[in-house]
Amino acid sequence: MKLIIFHTQATPLQQDGVRRRLMNDGVAGIARLTGDRTVFVITDPAGEIDLHDYSELPGIESVLEEVEKNVRVADDGASIPDMTSGIPGMTIIAGPCSIESEEQVATIYAHMAREGLHFVRGGAYKPRTSPHDFQGEGRSGLQMSSQIASDYGLRLVSEVVDPRDVEFASRYAAVIQIGTRSMQNFALLKEAGASRLPVLLKRGMSATVDEWIGAAEHVLVAGAPVVIFCERGIRTFESITRNTLDILGAAALKERTRMPVIVDPSHAAGRRSLVAQGALAGLAAGLDGVLVEVHHDPPSARSDAAQALPLDQFSRFMSIARSLRESLVSGADVA
Ligand code: PEP
Ligand code: MN
Repeated sequence: MKLIIFHTQATPLQQDGVRRRLMNDGVAGIARLTGDRTVFVITDPAGEIDLHDYSELPGIESVLEEVEKNVRVADDGASIPDMTSGIPGMTIIAGPCSIESEEQVATIYAHMAREGLHFVRGGAYKPRTSPHDFQGEGRSGLQMSSQIASDYGLRLVSEVVDPRDVEFASRYAAVIQIGTRSMQNFALLKEAGASRLPVLLKRGMSATVDEWIGAAEHVLVAGAPVVIFCERGIRTFESITRNTLDILGAAALKERTRMPVIVDPSHAAGRRSLVAQGALAGLAAGLDGVLVEVHHDPPSARSDAAQALPLDQFSRFMSIARSLRESLVSGADVA
């Protein structure tokens, strides 16, 4: 977004002259704001318009070329709730794709508590490609898993698909998850934000980083104290992995926000043999954490079985992640 700010005494004729010149230069989106002075707001998504010469035109006080529209996402001074989990300074969230049974949830969450996590995942409303696949346990699953989580001193991260379920879910989940398929469901974004809980926002599988930021801005404007951005892989021509994990897209996002940016290697990889690599690559790239699917008996998992890490493999990942964290911290000290 770019702004042309007129002097308080600028005449309508001068403003018209500037508008005509902008149109001649091919600018289509011009909005006019009036107050004690007139401001033209210019949208330039492709970043092609150069307003450098305009500041010399009669009637113009100043030209601002780079105005951050997403003020909440970019806010340097925002007080961000502590999302530490598993490793100091990091947000490690793990747990099953779907909440299935008490025994399943208790076995997995007990292990997560032993690994020092504060946040665990578990889906109750599952957005499945086929209506014939397991759709999740819904309300009773949320109640049961949040009870077991709190028995272990853990807090639940759970996805909501329908805006009408946010109010109920917010009584049991500590963090509302918005899935990749819902990233631009604006009604859901607003409802999730209005819960005033932290919101974990997955990147849409076909969304640009800018679109992702716009979605987060909706959530923050609606009232969420923090958005945890989660890169989970995007659709590309490549099919050797389930999705293409865009680590540098996530790293670039960190240049635009102080909110946590984490990576979900499970839905990117699609199979467990690549999950730890993706998670460690994200941490090595300076991202703030990971979201990983874990199951005590992966072959029996009712969704995403192929990508679930068994408990012992998750523990091996955690011990490497802890040493990586230590070397990253000492690396930062050297720099
Ligand atoms: C999930 O976290 O289980 C999930 C459905 O993820 P995504 O929205 O990234 O596909
Ligand atoms: Mn899943």
